[in-house]
Amino acid sequence: MTIDWTTIRQDFPILHQEVHGHPLIYFDNAATSQKPRHVIEALVGYYERDNANVHRGLHELSGRATDAYEESRRKVAQYLGAGEEEIIFTRGTTEGINLVAQSWGRANIKMGDVILVTEMEHHSNLVPWQMLALQTGATLKHVPVTDEGELDLDQLDTLLTEQVKMFAFVHVSNSLGTINPAKELIARAKAVGAVTLLDGAQSAGHMPVNVRDLDCDFYAFSGHKMCAPTGIGALYARGPVLAEMPPWQGGGEMITRVQFESSFYKEGPARFEAGTPDISGAIVLGEAIDYLEALGREHIFQHDSELTAYALERMAEIEGLRIFGPRLNRGSLVAFALEGAHPHDLTTYANSFGLALRGGHHCTQPLMRKLKVPSTTRASFYFYNTREEIDRMIAILQAARTFFAP
Ligand code: PLP
Repeated sequence: MTIDWTTIRQDFPILHQEVHGHPLIYFDNAATSQKPRHVIEALVGYYERDNANVHRGLHELSGRATDAYEESRRKVAQYLGAGEEEIIFTRGTTEGINLVAQSWGRANIKMGDVILVTEMEHHSNLVPWQMLALQTGATLKHVPVTDEGELDLDQLDTLLTEQVKMFAFVHVSNSLGTINPAKELIARAKAVGAVTLLDGAQSAGHMPVNVRDLDCDFYAFSGHKMCAPTGIGALYARGPVLAEMPPWQGGGEMITRVQFESSFYKEGPARFEAGTPDISGAIVLGEAIDYLEALGREHIFQHDSELTAYALERMAEIEGLRIFGPRLNRGSLVAFALEGAHPHDLTTYANSFGLALRGGHHCTQPLMRKLKVPSTTRASFYFYNTREEIDRMIAILQAARTFFAP
């Protein structure tokens, strides 16, 4: 199948505008992706035709909303290769990881246990484990990152002991672009009896993901990074693991019977979806999945990889530009530093030419310390970006080099 990516770009209304007198170049996709018209219209359509609260209503609109909400759960399940009873709707990756830390974690982690993460974790996959370690007396350890921006797998044998009860790590690093060998890491964790959680924020919308094949226990992702709105995401929890997890938040929808003194809880994902969920978000996440599936994640991955390889090749032309992360086997983002230009200044300079980059620590402060920089500038691509946009970014970076020259 040959995809005309230029035509696909027409599906994204926001991309066709000028910023500061220049055509917008949106290279901040790792922070959030843009939304196709199909998704935007589905959101409007839901509120114009079907809006009602789910599950409790016996009227037509509530039935429609409930059917669409549960249909979306099936789509998420299929997208990840899971069962629908293993998919919990969340606000996003952060909430999914906090749910695991507080529900599974408090029930299973005790004093003396080890929670293992990596040095390249987003704060979302670090702070919840720090909190759990404080609550339980467990120890938090991390797998170091090599100078090439990969996990130091030589250290893993020493770190992955039988004390490790949870190994939580990022699938694709949002700061380095590294694609971690998830399947191998999960197998090694299983060998010592550890439960595994994969932070899928940067992989779910960018590459084929099958949780059965990966064999992880948990996989968390955010809809807004894969063409869906903000405020919705999902957590995959392997069936037998989920069945043993106590509720996290209490409230309506997650109970079967409530008395003054105590309550009985529902089984399955409903136990973790207290209160009115983000109904429209969940339904539209299903629409975003349809959209991505029609393109094919293997095609998206290939296109993104070609764009990234081209960006790396062109960026090598710029003197004084340091690129972070591995050369090969990386996701569709490039973080860099330009000699003499603070990442915030460089990002502001780029903005004046309509180029949206991101400058900062990217919520990976421990990694920044390892790299010995306070922050970096990051260009992150998605399937609607083009080589021409990369050429324009190169011209802007070349001009910045002169502008910021001491
Ligand atoms: N993990 C990684 C690797 C991310 O890149 C992000 C967001 O940038 C997150 C977790 C947190 O995602 P969210 O803010 O959507 O919960």
